[in-house]
Amino acid sequence: MPAPPDPSRDLQARHAELRARYADLQARGLRLDMTRGKPSPEQLDLSEGLLALPGNRDHRAESGEDARNYGGVQGLAEVRALFSGVLGAPPEQIAVGNNSSLALMHDCIAYALLKGVPGGAAPWSREEIRFICPVPGYDRHFALCETYGIGMLSVPMTPRGPDMDAVEDLARDPAVRGMWAVPQYANPGGETYDDETVARLAGMATGAPDFRLFWDNAYALHHLTDRRPALRNILEACAAAGRPDRPLVFASTSKVTLAGAGLAFLAASPANLRWYLACAGKRSIGPDKLNQLRHARFLRDAGGLERLMEGHRRLLAPKFRAVTDALARALAGTGAARWSEPAGGYFVLLEVPDGCASRVVELAAGCGLALTPAGATHPYGRDPRDRTLRLAPSYPSLGEVEAAAEVIALCTLLAAAENRQA
Ligand code: PLP
Repeated sequence: MPAPPDPSRDLQARHAELRARYADLQARGLRLDMTRGKPSPEQLDLSEGLLALPGNRDHRAESGEDARNYGGVQGLAEVRALFSGVLGAPPEQIAVGNNSSLALMHDCIAYALLKGVPGGAAPWSREEIRFICPVPGYDRHFALCETYGIGMLSVPMTPRGPDMDAVEDLARDPAVRGMWAVPQYANPGGETYDDETVARLAGMATGAPDFRLFWDNAYALHHLTDRRPALRNILEACAAAGRPDRPLVFASTSKVTLAGAGLAFLAASPANLRWYLACAGKRSIGPDKLNQLRHARFLRDAGGLERLMEGHRRLLAPKFRAVTDALARALAGTGAARWSEPAGGYFVLLEVPDGCASRVVELAAGCGLALTPAGATHPYGRDPRDRTLRLAPSYPSLGEVEAAAEVIALCTLLAAAENRQA
């Protein structure tokens, strides 16, 4: 992102004009929603073909097992092979869950709290524990920690990934058992961790022998441009550093096929995978293998996955451009904001002057635009500088996104102008 916001005096002078434009917007009676990164109906339509599959009494997996029946807690071999490249792990180190990788993250945390993890002396719940949280980050990661009483330690994101000096410092504390990471096209900043960051995360000393890196690679396939930053393989990096059990890698097809009916994945070291399957095997007699078969038939191979993602990109890229173009038109040179121009993922990060983010959300609501609450990008919902906003342009139509972006730009200017007057 360009230089930090420094609202100019011009904005103060424009206050009356901005107020008048705001009143005009209010009169338009808009009803817009940019709160959550959901796929649009057109994106879901790309996978409509899934719903007719497997069909024609096609319910035998490659192994000969009947996908309609119980069992197969690790998931079908052909699906694990299909996603092996995305996850950066051999099929035998992958488990396929039902929809929602968040559910897998939840379960890993719950199992760790109740039973402990390989290499640990006791269940995590026996002590006060903490997670390192790159900030801004994903609100549901933070909510998971909060609901289970796991303390959160914020570290700032940089364009290369989390501030690694701060991470290494915090990781020395034995109470620090985990860290969240969205390593590719991070939610919400869009950053991809560079090679040095991945190497340092793999190699760093931790006070806890059972420290786990929750590597949530939710946006591994979600390119918006031809710039495709390569992410170093964390499982290989950790194994090479002698810490094969450090990472738990998560991904899903929520934003590939159907958000409510996709597949979720965990990839991990052999010891971690055995641990997970032993726990998961108590929880359920097996996942929905028909849905796995359906995905194998629909996607076919890595080329099929790529073609589908190209379809998403065609729908999404114009919406992201509409947001960043509108912000540039209205805000460039005003010093009232800076914003990300993500090469992938689902969000645009907007940084407004300190103390203005909640006011922008309030002003936007006043003219019919719902935004993610200010603070959602920070642990406990508290952004100490009240300056970070997450914009989610995927779900509304292109026309709605264009209208919403105008509203956001105007509300940002108005909030900055009010701030100057205060
Ligand atoms: N992880 C990140 C970083 C996300 O942004 C999201 C959804 O927005 C999820 C996980 C949710 O994934 P799933 O639908 O697989 O539970």
